[in-house]
Amino acid sequence: MPEGDTLFRAARTLDRALAGKVVTRFETALAHLARTDDDMPLAGRLVERVDAVGKWLRIYFSGDLILLTHMRMNGSWHIYREGEPWQRGRSHMRTAIHTADFVAVAFDVPIAEFHTAASLARHRTVPQLGPNVLGAQFDEAEAAARIPSRPDLEIGVAVMRQHLVAGMGNIFKSEVCFAARVNPFRKVGDLTDEELRALMAHARRLMSANITETSGPGIVTYRGLNRGGAADNCWVYHRRGEPCRRCRTPIESRKQGEEARTSYWCPRCQPV
Ligand SMILES: [Zn+2]
Repeated sequence: MPEGDTLFRAARTLDRALAGKVVTRFETALAHLARTDDDMPLAGRLVERVDAVGKWLRIYFSGDLILLTHMRMNGSWHIYREGEPWQRGRSHMRTAIHTADFVAVAFDVPIAEFHTAASLARHRTVPQLGPNVLGAQFDEAEAAARIPSRPDLEIGVAVMRQHLVAGMGNIFKSEVCFAARVNPFRKVGDLTDEELRALMAHARRLMSANITETSGPGIVTYRGLNRGGAADNCWVYHRRGEPCRRCRTPIESRKQGEEARTSYWCPRCQPV
């Protein structure tokens, strides 16, 4: 599953290509989207903006119409110049939004739905999402205050619950807990306000650093010397048994939560 920042980049790229442009043509292989397009044509509408919340990508059109997609494992959005050959076959196309300059194509997205603002707010599987770590209005204190609503959860599970705080995936979970010196297996109810705020501040900082103009496709949280291979760009993630970059204690790892997503931590820097 893509990390929140990957989706954020996809949304930003789509936003830059499409926002402020008029839809010249809309194509879809999905009957339920085609029906809506018949009733309320996309062509002629303005693309107002594109954003990502958690794992969901939303394209807002004028006239209160929103295209909601979820990438899951195989879905992707591509941007092409009009007439440029697509990298994937047409049989993988689920929907394509044409403007004068670009065509945005969704390939193999498992979920694609039209919504109004009101129906999106009632959507059952898009939960009431928490503040987006990468959102312009992200407020660390507000985000930190939402997390204790689930005091029973381990913090490494809570930070990936998108209705508490949106955008963080498995890599940032471990990296953010390490940065804040919080053991991912501690219960939310045992954390102080300062620790929760530190977690949110580090989440914002680390994730923002991964969406700059120059950042590559991989996630980089550790930029110090003595980096190993290309995959070794993190403080703790995927570093089981390797020395902590702060204290040299071997990094530990264990599966966590119902989804058994592996967490990494330093037992000395992040005591229980
Ligand atoms: Zn350490």
